[in-house]
Amino acid sequence: MKIPVEFSANAAGPLTEDRLARVTASWQERLRLQDWDIQPVIARACDLGDGHVGDCRPLPHKGYAKIRVLHPSDHEGQSFTLADQAGDWELTVVHELVHIALVGAVPEKQKRHRRDAEERAINNIARALLAAHRVSRELIASRET
Ligand SMILES: [Zn+2]
Repeated sequence: MKIPVEFSANAAGPLTEDRLARVTASWQERLRLQDWDIQPVIARACDLGDGHVGDCRPLPHKGYAKIRVLHPSDHEGQSFTLADQAGDWELTVVHELVHIALVGAVPEKQKRHRRDAEERAINNIARALLAAHRVSRELIASRET
């Protein structure tokens, strides 16, 4: 049996406000972040800045965080620092939620090379979580058919 784990733009369906809210809520639960009030929004490239597929702004003292995910139509013509994130908005959501999970564990002000290392580590964790999730979802789906 072939299990597709590759990352495709449509893995979680086309990005809509509804889907974004649902996917964020389920990953929030999986990552045990229910204490946080997390607001996901679709953002344009002009708001996020070139080369960013998303970002998050956690306010730990309020238990509130806003996650911004790049609108798919703004992907074209851009190159991203974490290229594998482009086109897979669910990966962006998981990536930003892992940032929130690490609030308090990782110093806010860091030297550039440590920040880059943190970004790569978070992306690898997010990819692994998402791949495992998609494999198990495929397995469940294949048993149901
Ligand atoms: Zn990041």
